[in-house]
Amino acid sequence: MEHTRTHSPSRRPAADGSVRAKKALGQHFLTDESIALRIVDALTGLTPHVLEIGPGMGVLTKYLYSKEGIDFHAIEIDHESVDYLHAHYPGLHVIEGDFLALDPSALFAQPFAVIGNFPYNISSQILFKVFDNRNRVPEVVGMFQKEVAERVAAQPGSKTYGILSVLLSAFYDIEYLFTVHEHVFNPPPKVKSAVIRLRRNAVTALECDENLFVRVVKTGFNQRRKTLRNALRQLDTPLDAVPERFLSLRAEQLSVSDFITITQSLS
Ligand code: SAH
Repeated sequence: MEHTRTHSPSRRPAADGSVRAKKALGQHFLTDESIALRIVDALTGLTPHVLEIGPGMGVLTKYLYSKEGIDFHAIEIDHESVDYLHAHYPGLHVIEGDFLALDPSALFAQPFAVIGNFPYNISSQILFKVFDNRNRVPEVVGMFQKEVAERVAAQPGSKTYGILSVLLSAFYDIEYLFTVHEHVFNPPPKVKSAVIRLRRNAVTALECDENLFVRVVKTGFNQRRKTLRNALRQLDTPLDAVPERFLSLRAEQLSVSDFITITQSLS
């Protein structure tokens, strides 16, 4: 009957008790334990407080939550996964909720590291949230779709260099660790994945108005084919004080310190 059909079979746990992957939640479960271990081992321990985003069935979690000397929490949006985690990892503290809506200060009084095989549909939003919390997040280890990982780790002059590359590299040392093939996931994603690590650098504050810096970077890349002279018109601020050598360049050609110089000249 139609009625029983719409009572979606995908809502029921699979026969073996595992969680059925839900596409809308970006669920692709990692099935390769050696890769899970490499990811967990990539955390350098800058802080004992650790938050995992999207543990799913716990392929990373099981190596993390019982570690000596670690204060571990996880946040997972999927009710079925949360049930699974409670059943399989007694004592694990997992919050059922949306990481993007989480107030991290309610969870951690201390700086905390972020780890995960992240839901790819919200990769950029996770990274912008890390940027906003840069003074509370000393380290991030995570798997993203390869293209996003490359974008974050990109250097000036490369085609993939963009807003997140500049904003994050202003405050983090970024390493592209390794590429992961789609066949180690269930179900396999359409794209390759990659693991990156971000570690907070020594910069406490940029030598410019940081809010304006963010606006300049975003506006510059908003029309990335245009020279800065044209792209930055949108700021509605006179560009007279901006050094001439930058105005004929495009955002993708500029380093973090170039953007800082430009921001200084605008204030
Ligand atoms: N880490 C697991 C699962 C990866 S799939 C593994 O490697 O196998 C991504 C996970 O993120 C899923 O479990 C999904 O339910 C969860 N997720 C998706 N959106 C989320 C959000 N906004 N907040 C927290 N978790 C989320």
